[in-house]
Amino acid sequence: MRLVMASANPHKAIEIAEVLQAVMPDVEIVPRPPGLGDVVEDGETLEANALIKARFVCAAAGEPAIADDTGLEVDALDGAPGVHSARYAGPRQDAAANVAKLLAGLRDVPAHERTARFRTVVTVVFSDGSEVLADGVVEGSIATEPRGEGGFGYDPVFVPGETAPLTFAEMSAEAKNRISHRGRALRALAERL
Ligand code: IMP
Repeated sequence: MRLVMASANPHKAIEIAEVLQAVMPDVEIVPRPPGLGDVVEDGETLEANALIKARFVCAAAGEPAIADDTGLEVDALDGAPGVHSARYAGPRQDAAANVAKLLAGLRDVPAHERTARFRTVVTVVFSDGSEVLADGVVEGSIATEPRGEGGFGYDPVFVPGETAPLTFAEMSAEAKNRISHRGRALRALAERL
């Protein structure tokens, strides 16, 4: 099976290919073709945004497409940044700005109230219009300062409960994939494909 990657983010593309190929050795992950154009991710939910991306790329590339959408839900912030995680600090800001805004919002929040989770929804959309969806969650907490060099996005401040006190950015790619939201969502998706 050939699946076109809807995301152009190279970190994510590598994670998705590594995890899916481990459980589906016959799947071929094709990079997003350049020049496809952009689609507006204006859904209210992770499911809606994943479907918007996969439907767009499937139609534009003429092949089945795989897309994911992830949110970081922080309990002390009433579930923010959630579906807005990518642009939490503003449309033109980077991961460091998102992390800085998150830490500033939690400055006075004690350790036991810094609980959070990553949630990923992943979908494959086929040219005949059929769609397969799966999700995955990892529970954890938000550190008080960034630690580690690996991963991307909020990884330096997310401490998965199962492997505390390491942040995702302090773990190897394999160790992260074993317990991560995206790893779990992709393995659930593979069972449904
Ligand atoms: P997206 O839906 O995958 O684009 O992710 C939304 C936001 O969450 C972006 O700011 C990403 O950097 C961040 N994000 C997604 N997956 C991860 C992850 O595995 N670790 C850390 N941050 C992530």
